[in-house]
Amino acid sequence: MKTHKTLKGECLCGEVSWQLSGPYEFFGMCQCSRCRKATGAAFATNLFVKAEQFKWLSGKEMVHEYVMEKPNTFGNAFCKKCGSRSPRFSPARGWMMAPLGSTMETPEIEPTLVCAKNHTDWFKKLEEIL
Ligand SMILES: [Zn+2]
Ligand SMILES: [Zn+2]
Repeated sequence: MKTHKTLKGECLCGEVSWQLSGPYEFFGMCQCSRCRKATGAAFATNLFVKAEQFKWLSGKEMVHEYVMEKPNTFGNAFCKKCGSRSPRFSPARGWMMAPLGSTMETPEIEPTLVCAKNHTDWFKKLEEIL
């Protein structure tokens, strides 16, 4: 039986921490305009797991969640102290999503580029370098 790696992540100040265990459902690198605004970066890098494979280790009460008006299901969650993105439940898929940039470990899943056509012109031939 395959044993799956457990990944731990934490925010910049360290108050909010969590862990996820595989198998992972999806590793998305999304470059839609909402993900870029929420992260301030070229991509959101999110690892998705079933809710029972996710566990808060500390600071859940420090997480603030912003959810867009319906019918949007998009939102953002972050540490109230340091502003780092934190995991949140994704109602669209029924999975927990966690920002992979908050862990130094490598998941046992390859990333998928989401919304490849929905980007600025910062990058040329992006699909070729992934
Ligand atoms: Zn923090
Ligand atoms: Zn997106």
